[in-house]
Amino acid sequence: MMLKIVNPATEEEITSVEALDEPRTHELVERSARAFDRWSRVPAPERARLLRRFADAVDADGEHLAQLESRNAGHPIVEARGTAARARDVIEYFAGAPERLIGRQIPVDGGVDITFHEPLGVVAVITPWNFPLQLAVWGMAPALAAGNTVILKPSELTPLTTIRLARLAVEAGLPPDVVQVVTGTGSVAGQALLDHPRVAKVVFTGSTDVGRIVMRSAANSLKRVTLELGGKSANIVFKDADLPAAAAAAPMGVFYNAGQDCCARSRLLVQREVLDEFVDLLRPAVRGVNVGDPADEATEVGPLISAGHRDRVASFLTPEEDILIRGKAPEGPGFWFAPTVLLSKDGTSRSSVQEIFGPVVTLIPFDDEEDAIRIANDTVYGLAGSIWTRDVARALRTARAVQAGNLSVNNNTAVRHQTPFGGFKQSGIGRELGPDALREFTETKNVFISLT
Ligand code: NDP
Repeated sequence: MMLKIVNPATEEEITSVEALDEPRTHELVERSARAFDRWSRVPAPERARLLRRFADAVDADGEHLAQLESRNAGHPIVEARGTAARARDVIEYFAGAPERLIGRQIPVDGGVDITFHEPLGVVAVITPWNFPLQLAVWGMAPALAAGNTVILKPSELTPLTTIRLARLAVEAGLPPDVVQVVTGTGSVAGQALLDHPRVAKVVFTGSTDVGRIVMRSAANSLKRVTLELGGKSANIVFKDADLPAAAAAAPMGVFYNAGQDCCARSRLLVQREVLDEFVDLLRPAVRGVNVGDPADEATEVGPLISAGHRDRVASFLTPEEDILIRGKAPEGPGFWFAPTVLLSKDGTSRSSVQEIFGPVVTLIPFDDEEDAIRIANDTVYGLAGSIWTRDVARALRTARAVQAGNLSVNNNTAVRHQTPFGGFKQSGIGRELGPDALREFTETKNVFISLT
């Protein structure tokens, strides 16, 4: 079976790729397991050198990767260039890791005790359609650095940059089968990876519902899992904040990648005393968001990924929801959706509770710090969030009280490759990126050497 790959901005077919069935997927796992025997024994300095060459190859291919990602995932080209550059940065960062994967010497009686961080084996990296290139690299770079082999399973909608990435790995000199790609559907190829006992670990990014399937399937052979799942993050604006700055930043805090972002600040909590003033500042900022052709360098927001997803996002605009502000979006071919701000008086509307994964934010007023924290935590998710205030103590108190993995103060960004990323509650398990990422791809081995 072939999968049709579509440009979401034009609805035109770009190409098609093969959907692998279970036996073909299992064949790739067997090859990966054989490659692991060799790759795990490559000396650390050599592994580091090969990863640096891989980063260089991604760097040299940056414009091509950006164009591919923009056409396949609908990312504005300027954003896609940033993604390609960050993909290089992540590989470069983890190229420093093999030579720093240091164990410990622990004082004991009668001998010497040392620990090693051993690779796990075959790691499956299953990624969604919203950030295909970035999420593939987040999983594969630390896994490879630790000495594991990797099988990438991109979403059936967006496999193109993942396929390219695997080719660049080979061109950079990584041995055959150390990085492979399984193209195909989640329910067949993805599930086949989960079901194969030689897959030692699954890094899954996607919906919380499929995350539950991953965890259940992984239990059969006790695979390790890292899960990066959904979110319903709060952007909290206190009355003492720099309101023009908070209002100017709020739209892209949620509309970035058309809201198809697990870290989207899709609940905008504003202190009641400054609500009217804030809405007056927010209105022009939302209406000014430039939604359009991803190939245009002035575009800030592209289309949604598919017609089906656009229908799902649109289903949130029911008569019960109070539409406060609507921005603009193109008409005609492409899965367009205008940025939308809804108002919920008490934070219980459907739009305030469920993950929409589109350019829709729900504005919710709050009374004081305690009320803001209560509303922010009133969700099954706990991925990200922002706090806008000039009071440092309030910022820190609130940051400690909000149950989420990635918080920012007077800023709406969540991700830096040097820092750990991941969710509380049903937003996930484990952490990616940052100085400790290799712990997620290794087992600690303890060795005692008798001196008697
Ligand atoms: P899905 O959970 O549907 O899919 C994610 C990946 O899992 C895809 O590659 C999919 O393949 C695959 N998959 C689906 N079913 C199975 C299965 N039974 N076994 C193995 N693999 C399977 O998510 P979406 O692609 O729809 O992405 C949107 C969701 O992802 C949102 O809810 C969002 O919050 C979440 N997300 C979380 C992030 C985070 O870091 N926390 C980051 C990005 C997204 P296929 O597409 O081919 O069916």
